[in-house]
Amino acid sequence: MKAKVDKDACIGCSLCVSTCPEVFKMDADKAVVIGNSVPGGAVDSAKRAAEECPTTAIAVE
Ligand code: SF4
Repeated sequence: MKAKVDKDACIGCSLCVSTCPEVFKMDADKAVVIGNSVPGGAVDSAKRAAEECPTTAIAVE
């Protein structure tokens, strides 16, 4: 599974980093995805981060 952050939509609230630090980190005032694919153990929390993002900036597929 892969995750993507739409930088234009991200408001830098860092909620996704709190929810799924295995996949998301802050880069200045925007969230970015760590690595090329979501580790197996982080799939559920990555999906939850996408659902919780206030601007729906996260896509997981
Ligand atoms: S939860 Fe959404 S808006 Fe907040 S930092 Fe993560 S991607 Fe950006």
